[in-house]
Amino acid sequence: MVGLGLLPAAPAGAFNLARSEKANKKVLILGAGLAGMNTAYELGKIGYDCTILEARNRAGGRIWTVRGGTTETEIGGETQTCRFDEGLYLNAGAARIPHHHQLTIHYCRELKIPLEIFGNFNEAGFYYSDSPKGALANQRVRAREIHADMRGQLYELLVKANDQKALDLPLTAEDADKLMTWLREEGDLNPGKHYAGSERRGYAVRPAGGTQAGEIGPAHALKDIVESGLTHPAFANIGEYTYHQQPVMLQMVGGNDYLPRAFAKILGDKISYGCEVKELRKTQPGVRVVYLDKKTGQTKEVSADFCVCTLPLPILKTVESDLSGNVKRAADFVPYMETSKIGLQFKRRFWEEDDHIFGGISKTNQDITQIFYPSYGFLGQKGVLKGMYNFHDRANRMGALSLAEREKAALEQGGKIHPQYKTEFENSFSLAWQKIPYSKGGWAEYSKSARERMYPALLEPDDDIYFAGEHVSHLTAWMAGALESSRRVVEMLHKRVSAN
Ligand SMILES: Cc1cc2nc3c(=O)[nH]c(=O)nc-3n(C[C@H](O)[C@H](O)[C@H](O)COP(=O)(O)OP(=O)(O)OC[C@H]3O[C@@H](n4cnc5c(N)ncnc54)[C@H](O)[C@@H]3O)c2cc1C
Repeated sequence: MVGLGLLPAAPAGAFNLARSEKANKKVLILGAGLAGMNTAYELGKIGYDCTILEARNRAGGRIWTVRGGTTETEIGGETQTCRFDEGLYLNAGAARIPHHHQLTIHYCRELKIPLEIFGNFNEAGFYYSDSPKGALANQRVRAREIHADMRGQLYELLVKANDQKALDLPLTAEDADKLMTWLREEGDLNPGKHYAGSERRGYAVRPAGGTQAGEIGPAHALKDIVESGLTHPAFANIGEYTYHQQPVMLQMVGGNDYLPRAFAKILGDKISYGCEVKELRKTQPGVRVVYLDKKTGQTKEVSADFCVCTLPLPILKTVESDLSGNVKRAADFVPYMETSKIGLQFKRRFWEEDDHIFGGISKTNQDITQIFYPSYGFLGQKGVLKGMYNFHDRANRMGALSLAEREKAALEQGGKIHPQYKTEFENSFSLAWQKIPYSKGGWAEYSKSARERMYPALLEPDDDIYFAGEHVSHLTAWMAGALESSRRVVEMLHKRVSAN
């Protein structure tokens, strides 16, 4: 049919499982996040009768784009309603797409969701070290200055050490020479093999028209960089070198919830919203699920041949069930990341106008940890910054504050990097994922031992109950993990049904 032009060609990466007469089975899916919806979408294509129970009134789970009008109440917290202007948004959960996350990109292609560049790394961003000493402490320094000066001075050290025969290099003399040439180039060392600053670190006086040739800023001494705390892990340049964050990164145009919204539109009334799963029972064969219908306040139940459970583990552990001891142990003991964010709306995009920052990140060792500049709406009037994105203790500390205290802290700390905060701020929306109902955490954080001891229980069906979600992947904390896990379950379930 594709050959005759009667069907469009499946896009690259399409999941083509053969339909089977035997697929006439009822599958109950718990959770309309990416894993749950992708499971229903793919099983639906090959003939299964899928229903999704979703506790929230929206699909997408941890893919959550906050816009004006979004309302949320954290566990034990106040209710807040977002006041961002039309067109401005905060990706409160999933924000960036690595260029090699094939399935995330595949489904954007299949569901026709346009992508744009996400600036994850910007040499114009600032580093701000809150430190009791050091010539560079408590001031903002451009990332490019630190990167260029560190590289230059460290490579100079290596070249000098080699000249003094102090390097035990496993190289021939000829290859050692080649390496030294490379170090001189990469470090921008002068003919005397010394790093004396470089245009890579930027200009103190910028080059311009007429006679203004520009003046390269003086290099920061290695001692000052280290003493000022700028080698703290908070400033690690992971946006440049870790596999999952290397450029180029992408985002969905208009907000990342376009992907779950597209799945939800296709699935239509196969998703029952406001249905909070309370009990998961094995009926051997099959499953029975008890849930609270939040619209009516009634407790209801539904049965099916199979269940695909995509509930995050901190939620699964609160559900009464007949699950095996091993699955329950995983739900009880796999920890989830504490992580918080705040969106700050400003009436002027001063980071672009005054500081020439278009996307990317500034970093600090203060509790806010990072400031992300929006990769959309360049040159517009207003903008929403991500004024904090932190983890572990810092996220717990910020998460424990009231909304007003979080806003105050984010403005104070970020205001040290951007004094413009004081005059340009308009409103904020903040969240701590460990306190968000139906998530209770950012993502599964497997230690090596948890991966060895707990994870295997989630990989196999527990009788007729299968598990999917980012926590059933080696791409935890990524949308791609949810998608990889759901396609794996679809394949396993279909193979089993087709074989019987
Ligand atoms: C702060 C943060 C930043 C992130 N950044 C990125 C990023 O930059 N790039 C990226 O690719 N990924 C990122 N992720 C990860 C990505 O969002 C997740 O991996 C993915 O969305 C998980 O999908 P899921 O279907 O496994 O789980 P979820 O999205 O959590 O779906 C589970 C669903 O179950 C529902 N549910 C919960 N309890 C019940 C119940 N009792 N009854 C019925 N339904 C229930 C939930 O409402 C939810 O809809 C980030 C996540 C967070 C939190």
